[in-house]
Amino acid sequence: MEKTLILLKPDAVQKSLIGQIIDRFERKGLKIAWIKMMKMSQALIEEHYDFLMDKPFFPRIATYMSSGPIIAMCLEWADAVKVVRQMCGATNPAEATMWTIRWDYAKNIDNNIIHASDSPETAEKELNRFFNVSTEFFEYKRTLID
Ligand code: ATP
Ligand code: MG
Repeated sequence: MEKTLILLKPDAVQKSLIGQIIDRFERKGLKIAWIKMMKMSQALIEEHYDFLMDKPFFPRIATYMSSGPIIAMCLEWADAVKVVRQMCGATNPAEATMWTIRWDYAKNIDNNIIHASDSPETAEKELNRFFNVSTEFFEYKRTLID
């Protein structure tokens, strides 16, 4: 089983889309390993989007991501990173494949509803960024499914 980090960004929470988006992952069979609601500090936003700090749109990302609470979750599945990225659709919703999460719900590239790790290596780093290893990491088995 591979792990990946998902963030339901502030617009997903504001538009009451938490349940609908999680439902898609559960229907596909992915396991919700860890989940929490939180607000991203400026420091966490700068760390998470460090590779985009020089871009002209970085201030918009910072404003957007600090505009309200987010949902952070770890999803598990064989090939979780790839499958979840496919389910999310392209970064720019205008280019997203039909019926993907961004195609369905995202307004534009600045407000694109969801984040998903882009490789297993990134996922490990990002999960450590959003979840506290000593207090929040645990494993459980879905005894009725797996
Ligand atoms: P995410 O990391 O949010 O899952 P992604 O991996 O598809 O998205 P990245 O290149 O990691 O895309 O960009 C991170 C975020 O930065 C995007 O989700 C988007 O909000 C913003 N972003 C990226 N490129 C642009 C751009 N050209 N114009 C405006 N915003 C952008
Ligand atoms: Mg990315």
